[in-house]
Amino acid sequence: MTSKDQIDLFNLAEVVTPAPSADFNPDLIPTSAKVPIPPGTYSSMDEMKVHCNQCQRCDLGATRTHAVVSRGSIDAPIMIVGEGPGQNEDETGIPFVGKAGQLLDKILDAVQLTEADVFICNIVKCRPPGNRTPTTDEMEACRPYLLEQIRMVDPKIILLTGASSVKGLTGDKRGITKIRGEWLEWDNRLCMPIFHPAYLLRNPSKEKGSPKWLMWQDIQKVRAKLDEIRAQG
Ligand code: SF4
Repeated sequence: MTSKDQIDLFNLAEVVTPAPSADFNPDLIPTSAKVPIPPGTYSSMDEMKVHCNQCQRCDLGATRTHAVVSRGSIDAPIMIVGEGPGQNEDETGIPFVGKAGQLLDKILDAVQLTEADVFICNIVKCRPPGNRTPTTDEMEACRPYLLEQIRMVDPKIILLTGASSVKGLTGDKRGITKIRGEWLEWDNRLCMPIFHPAYLLRNPSKEKGSPKWLMWQDIQKVRAKLDEIRAQG
């Protein structure tokens, strides 16, 4: 192998997604968590949304009104991953549209990030009844959809809001207060755990060291990192 070939191994832009095998039947995907979802199954978010709205891979499929797939730009450099849809999201099919979502938009706006800069989704696409935390089995059943979203968006930065999002994607079980604001690497991608906006609504203080104050430090770090990545071209 020449040194050029070796360097090419590190060129992530040239990683080719393997085509699903010939006996793969995508129509079976929504019926059982045992049916795999190989990388490259979906070519658009709309295509995936059709499956999510039919999906019974976990029990959450039985009680949802709408599967909640995403909002924002598919070309966004930043992906924000929440835990799961709440009541407003279940009713509208759009993630982060309730009070927590409005606060998230304000936080993004404070560092000049718009819908063009972010793609917003959740670990599980259907609402856990009573807004409980999704179970490990539910997160596992839904995970292939999230992996397809990450593949299609190919974000430079992934923000994980709250401990369940961190656990759901990376498997890291540490508490959010311990790891928020830290850059983590997962699957060659830069991730940062941050507080869930709903937590900030329950803790309105802006005093130094408060959750809101810490979120402000974190989002400025994210903005600076994005500027740094963009400057590198
Ligand atoms: S939460 Fe995910 S895996 Fe479970 S039914 Fe909904 S789309 Fe399917």
